[in-house]
Amino acid sequence: MAAARLSETMTLAQFERLFPTEEACKSYLAAHRWPDGPVCVRCGNERVYPFTNRPFHWQCTRCAAAGGYRFSLLVGTIFENTNIALRTWFKVIHLMLTSEAGISALEIQRMFGFGSYRTSHFMWHRIRAGLGDPEFRRLMGIGAAEGRPSAGKDGKQRPPAGSVRKTFGSAADPNGTRARARQNARTRALK
Ligand SMILES: [Zn+2]
Repeated sequence: MAAARLSETMTLAQFERLFPTEEACKSYLAAHRWPDGPVCVRCGNERVYPFTNRPFHWQCTRCAAAGGYRFSLLVGTIFENTNIALRTWFKVIHLMLTSEAGISALEIQRMFGFGSYRTSHFMWHRIRAGLGDPEFRRLMGIGAAEGRPSAGKDGKQRPPAGSVRKTFGSAADPNGTRARARQNARTRALK
């Protein structure tokens, strides 16, 4: 069985099971960022040592000669230098990823009770850009949408081979009306 991962069809229950704690989110991110183990963000060196008293922080042996370099799991990601818990980021990502009609920064602010609109606006923009970026999707271990057409750079829908019938016309949505409406909403969102 493939490891559980974020996807457009992940339910809230599945999310809670996969990401019960901040620690679980960090482990997940580390595993997807560095499948073969952490490497120095600055020089690419594989010989890095973890800080025993600071989880998810490493020291590069090569950069150490040039004054030392420490880095954390979040360095170079959209999560860097924010006061927002990683699990909160994950929750918003999950919400934006699975929302069929799209969700606004204002709705996110309300749902999460963020004190300022700036916070949710900031997250919303970063996540929206990220979800359109293959590199970010890889970092987040977002699985390919099953049976869902993916949009190309030009905004045209490119259904994966053999998936069209499956997408339009499931038992729950025999005429594919909902699927098509969803797709249209997505196309609009890309413009
Ligand atoms: Zn280094």
